[in-house]
Amino acid sequence: MKRLAAWFFAAGMLAAPVFAADLSGVNDADKERIRGIVKEVLREYAATLGDRQANPATKDILRNIVQDNRDFMRTHGPEHFAHFLDGQHPRATVITCSDSRVHTQALDATPDGDLFMIRNIGNQIATAEGSVEYGVHHLHTPLLLIVGHSACGAIKAASGDYAKESGPIRNELDTIQIPKGDPGMNSIKLNVNNQVRRAMDKWEEEVIVGKLTVVGAVYDFRNDLKQGQGKLVIVNVNGETDPAKIAAMDLMRDLDAPEAKGRKARAPVHH
Ligand SMILES: [Zn+2]
Repeated sequence: MKRLAAWFFAAGMLAAPVFAADLSGVNDADKERIRGIVKEVLREYAATLGDRQANPATKDILRNIVQDNRDFMRTHGPEHFAHFLDGQHPRATVITCSDSRVHTQALDATPDGDLFMIRNIGNQIATAEGSVEYGVHHLHTPLLLIVGHSACGAIKAASGDYAKESGPIRNELDTIQIPKGDPGMNSIKLNVNNQVRRAMDKWEEEVIVGKLTVVGAVYDFRNDLKQGQGKLVIVNVNGETDPAKIAAMDLMRDLDAPEAKGRKARAPVHH
């Protein structure tokens, strides 16, 4: 306890003046040095706390996660993992929003080894460009699927005033190019279309020779588009956004048939 108290004292003494007080008389190099020392002290102090400061709900959450993982292990035998032990060969690179209401099971019954997933706020290329390139260029997925969704918080934020957000969050909202004042489906679709355009600019050669198809979609869990709750509505194919023209594409033919050609069987459940 003596040591803890000492840490607390040190952390408080150092943190208070640096984080709250005026450092205007100190040159930048010294400020950085002082901040670095304070951060180190705080980090060491936090490490001495162990889990004592944790929110009581955290224990239940972590227990749930550990138990769900145990169930997953129990119901997935070695054959589940066998086909991707030595490498991945996903069939699609997917960029979607980090939103907790948007998950792979809405669009793939067996996503393991199958979808190269990139998630960030606002389902953007700009804030995860390297990851997207990895999927398209190194894993050679023939499909790049960009998925926006109804009620997107990132779109809502980007359509308003987000000047008070932190620098890292502002950076990830700055790259969403939508008009101010429209947080709804028009902006959600516009952002998807902007991402498709960006992908087309990056990989126009691949698209032209047919190596890559870029598809934009909206996962509509609120049924805002009145096509069914939870539907993945395709709104853009290689830059084409006219629904009639998209519907007439060979790519779209028979997509809604009960068993699309080449559809994988659902993963067997082991008991
Ligand atoms: Zn979102």
